Amino acid sequence: MRDYRFPYREKRSVHKFKRRAGWQDIHHMTPKSKGGEDISSNRLSLDAYKHDAWHLIFKNLTIREVIELLERIERIKKNTSLAEILKKLFN
Ligand SMILES: [Zn+2]
Repeated sequence: MRDYRFPYREKRSVHKFKRRAGWQDIHHMTPKSKGGEDISSNRLSLDAYKHDAWHLIFKNLTIREVIELLERIERIKKNTSLAEILKKLFN
């Protein structure tokens, strides 16, 4: 029988992540937590699997912040291992 005592852990599990494939979600390009509005120009319909993947990788970053992050990686990647890059970016 399924254990419902740990819904938060279940929500974050890979199993749940894959189960949502094929569903449609609304992604806010500027997150509501960063002042984005729930209006059509800020809403993007995404496959839920891709939406989950976006937030798994980029958390709550805006598209502009993701571009800036990738540009930072591009600038520091020469002579730097991937492990060092990730350490610089996320520590
Ligand atoms: Zn989203």
